Order: sequence, then structure tokens, then C-alpha cells
Amino acid sequence: MRLRNITGCQETIADSKYVVNEDILEECPGTWASRFGNSNPIRIEIGMGKGRFIHDLAEQNPDVNYIGIEKYSAVLLRAVQKQEENEKSNLIFLRMDAEDICKVFGPGEIDKIYLNFSDPWPKDRHAKRRLPSRQFLSRYDKILKADGNIEFKTDNRDLFDFAVDELEPAGWEADYITYDLHADEKLMVGNVMTEYEEKFSSQGNPICKYCIHRASKQ
Ligand code: SAM
Repeated sequence: MRLRNITGCQETIADSKYVVNEDILEECPGTWASRFGNSNPIRIEIGMGKGRFIHDLAEQNPDVNYIGIEKYSAVLLRAVQKQEENEKSNLIFLRMDAEDICKVFGPGEIDKIYLNFSDPWPKDRHAKRRLPSRQFLSRYDKILKADGNIEFKTDNRDLFDFAVDELEPAGWEADYITYDLHADEKLMVGNVMTEYEEKFSSQGNPICKYCIHRASKQ
């Protein structure tokens, strides 16, 4: 995602009541249910960009809590502005690098993780930065509920092939894998589009998707 330097965006994010203050993130594990004021399931999107997907989900599912995570203030700003226009009590945002996710959520606190159009990091030496890498899967393992799952969508075939190859060594297995989501009537039921999905599918790129859970231990 190309980033424009938006004057004052860091201050706006730091002051927003919709973004949990970065200084207290490490005090947050185990407190998310009380922050939302209910015991509804908590689902997170990592690398949410401008937030169209998570806003739409939060609107459609008021009985689910959503947390959008984004590394850059200039991108997160758009999602926060949308929340100011149409506030949803079941949606909050974190500005952070997902590498620190285990410092912010307690064991089993999260019900589901969405990864959408994650950055590909094409160089081999950067593979561990890819959000569906085994290094990240091991972080997700710590924060997901026992029956929790992860959904990943991308149009980048190389990244998707990499993500599928990571599953077995990392101890995960697929509920389903598709290499052309938009051609699959069953999987398209309830599909919520992301900004990138809209853009790349309209250019004719097939969208790959998997849903995974932990493999049962022998
Ligand atoms: N998910 C959105 C979509 O599908 O339209 C945005 C996709 S964009 C290609 C990837 C986003 O992930 C960028 O906004 C980037 O800043 C964010 N991102 C990448 N690595 C991240 C990390 N380690 N932690 C948090 N956000 C990250």
C-alpha cells in the first residue's frame, strides 16, 4: 500500500477514542471482554488497511466484537474517520506491528483471525515477515481459542502457495482451500469484500482463500 504522509495523523490516532492507546497495549491481555463490556466472541483482522472489510463485518454482526490491527497511522486514519461517521460499539482499532500480538492478547482470547491481501514480502530472507508464515502461525496459535480458525484471502498466487506449504510444518490443517473464490458459489455466500479484493477481482485476478484450524495432535 502506497503511503502518503498525512500531517497530524499520528496525533489524531493517538487521541482517538476508537484506537486503544499504544502505551497501554501491554496491559491489555485478558481485558478485552471487559473493554467491550460483554462476553461476545472477539475476531481480529491483521493488516486491515483502510478498514472496509472490518467495518462491514461489525455492521452486519452486532453480537461479535471486532478489532482491526494496522501498522501505519496514515492508513488506519481512514478506518477511524469511518468510525467517526458511523460509530459501532463492537469495533475498535489498534495501531501496532502484528509481530507483538502475543503481548496484547491473552491465551485463547481470540475467536477468529482474518488476513486479507497481506503484504507478500517476495524476498526469501523476508519470509518470516509474511503474515501467514509459520512464525506468525505460531503467534496465532497462542491467542486463538481451541476451536478458533484463520481465514486468509489474496490474489497473490506465490504468497498463497507459500501459505499453504506452511500449514503442515506449522501444525495446521485446512477446512477448505480455493484458488478461485469468486467462482465458488458456496464459498461466496456471505463473502465480505475488502478494498484490495474489489480492486484485484475487478481486474480479473482470481482470489485465493483458505480457512484453517489447528491439526489435531496424534
Ligand atoms: N486488508 C486490506 C485489504 O484487503 O484491502 C489491506 C491490504 S494491504 C496490501 C496490507 C496492509 O497490511 C497494509 O495496510 C499494511 O500496512 C498492513 N500490514 C502489513 N504488515 C503488518 C504488520 N506486521 N502488522 C500490522 N499491519 C501490517
